[in-house]
Amino acid sequence: METANRNEKDLKSIVFSALSEIKQKLGSGLERESPDKLRSRLLDIVRGEHNWQIHVGSDGLELDNKILIERQLLSQLGEKFPQDPFTIYFRRTQADAKGNKQAPTSPVSINTSPNPFGINVRKRPIPEVKNIIVVASGKGGVGKSTVSTNLAISLGKLGHKVGLMDADVYGPSGPTMLGTKGPMEIDEDGKLIPLIAHNVKVVSFGFLSDAYHPVIWRGPLVSKAIEQLCFDVAWKELDILVIDLPPGTGDVQLSLIESLPIEGAVIVSTPQDVALIDAHKALSMFNNLNVPVFGMVENMSVFACPNCGHEEHIFGEGGGEDFSKQRNIPILAKIPLDASIRMACDTGQPISLQKRRPQAKAFSMLAEKIALSISNHSAEH
Ligand code: ADP
Repeated sequence: METANRNEKDLKSIVFSALSEIKQKLGSGLERESPDKLRSRLLDIVRGEHNWQIHVGSDGLELDNKILIERQLLSQLGEKFPQDPFTIYFRRTQADAKGNKQAPTSPVSINTSPNPFGINVRKRPIPEVKNIIVVASGKGGVGKSTVSTNLAISLGKLGHKVGLMDADVYGPSGPTMLGTKGPMEIDEDGKLIPLIAHNVKVVSFGFLSDAYHPVIWRGPLVSKAIEQLCFDVAWKELDILVIDLPPGTGDVQLSLIESLPIEGAVIVSTPQDVALIDAHKALSMFNNLNVPVFGMVENMSVFACPNCGHEEHIFGEGGGEDFSKQRNIPILAKIPLDASIRMACDTGQPISLQKRRPQAKAFSMLAEKIALSISNHSAEH
């Protein structure tokens, strides 16, 4: 107990000095804070079962401010206490313009900690689905759907009953990557019957929309449609549902993530800075919504010339490692940039079907890690 108290005191002073440093940074949102106001930002420090939880007042801060503050705090705390995992929670203490206030104010106990975005949404399980995992990327085009599809197939090969929900409403790639076409049938209870491809039950906006015309819907309609693709589907006993989220951290993603009991998230990024900046945002979104993150997948990690074997880091080198160190999450897999991965997906026969290929092994190892993380996480709850 004495150690815990001493640590808590140390942590408090480190967080204060970190906040004072962050205040100097442009874009922190803290630039005009008086020392007292800054001091009052630290709401609580709680020793959780698996981590230290630092609760910070978020009144008046934008998402970008919170990301910057979170990054700085994690990096400074990580330097001083390399062994200890930390999670930063943001919470409003004052009523907002709509009169919503996040209660309780400090001190907050971990069990009563409200959703840091101020909306307490009741989680709604999907009937007949045991575990939900989400695959996210801040940015589009980094291979999120390629990873989701190959991961789903590889989980199926491990013996799990797997579903894949292609929630990427604006650019659904499920039909192409799995080589299957809609429409989906409706059963006698009015539920959508998922299509089955490569032993995976799949629903996709691509089965509902015409390939040559974009979906032109506003956010609330998209959220409603995604809800239907989760709840109005005859999944019929799934061990794992993989949700391929739309890229970004907008409204649609938030409302989906908030409403589902998610076992964990996988973040996909290339090693390139522009992709990693958005991966940071995706990770912060999950942290703020209290969704566990299993780790990141570095896609298009390295290109090996098929003729001479020379390796080229087309999207940069070491980006995944930096991200993993800064944010204290593991790299679950490094997938090479490889024409066969692209061609296999384009022809509806994802590479993970070709068991012996090294590229397929990378996905099957990823699937093993995810399956293990799910069982560890379930055992803890
Ligand atoms: P996202 O879902 O992030 O928008 P996709 O999975 O649709 O990205 O991938 C974008 C494009 O990149 C696709 O044509 C896909 O086949 C290709 N691709 C993805 N990962 C790889 C890889 N590791 N090697 C080669 N091509 C890839």
